[in-house]
Amino acid sequence: MPRNAVTRFAPTPSGPLHVGHLLAALEARRVADELGGACLLRIEDIDLRARDPQWVELMHEDLAWLGLHFDGEVMYQTRRFDAYAAALEKLRGLGLLYPCFCNRGDIRAHVAESGRAPHATLGYLYPGTCKHLPPDEVQRRLQAGDAHCWRIDMERVQDIIGCPEWHDAYRGTQRCVPTEYGDVVLARKELPSSYHLAVVVDDAAQGVTHVTRGEDLFDATHIHRALQGVLGLPTPEYMHHALLRDNEGKRLAKRDGARSLQSLRQAGYSPRQVMDSLRAALQNGGIWVC
Ligand code: GLU
Repeated sequence: MPRNAVTRFAPTPSGPLHVGHLLAALEARRVADELGGACLLRIEDIDLRARDPQWVELMHEDLAWLGLHFDGEVMYQTRRFDAYAAALEKLRGLGLLYPCFCNRGDIRAHVAESGRAPHATLGYLYPGTCKHLPPDEVQRRLQAGDAHCWRIDMERVQDIIGCPEWHDAYRGTQRCVPTEYGDVVLARKELPSSYHLAVVVDDAAQGVTHVTRGEDLFDATHIHRALQGVLGLPTPEYMHHALLRDNEGKRLAKRDGARSLQSLRQAGYSPRQVMDSLRAALQNGGIWVC
């Protein structure tokens, strides 16, 4: 049994928490308890939609109402931009970053030209349009202040780290092929980090040994493994759990306001009833009927 196991619940509070978040929180808590370790709370609020303090406040209220407790200090990603900037500098020093001046429309058009379908979970993979721009054009556009983001060159990443393995407790050993997921965005002007960069830097900073997360993030984990490789960070054990679904088998998401914890609370459900419904859903193949 690993000593000092650390898990984390890492919600993005861009709206009220819903029952899917509760499942993620309970999974993180369960694994920490089973391993005799700590379960931390990290607020993933770098996304502009997650910066509204009302959602963070409501999240704390919901968690307190359910009696869910976390260990140690709460981490807020909006307080960690220096750590993300240091990681970006490291990647820049390795020659792995390049500016990309494409907007969404450009990317869609280039993907359509290449005849590639969007990736099932990651959407339109970047086709590399700006990767080979002549250096003088790059300088000119940067100096002119043209809107751009910073992407990581996954071909070079693969040259450096090859195709490393990672392990999922439910699905076994996986091989990460960095070039399969496109040159993802790591920073933008208005957002000096992306989800992918922040999550990797923070899991390492918090000493997370076991990442419990929904299976919708399975592909993203390959990207995280690649970033860990080039940043020289440890790779945790992963545990991708199934997602809750409605009666029609559709994944529950934030837009399903009726399943928000706040609405269940307001409808008179007790924390016990919500927990029992979640347990019943898990025994019923993840179908939530509350
Ligand atoms: N913040 C993400 C979410 O709320 C989960 C982060 C993760 O597990 O890496 O979906």
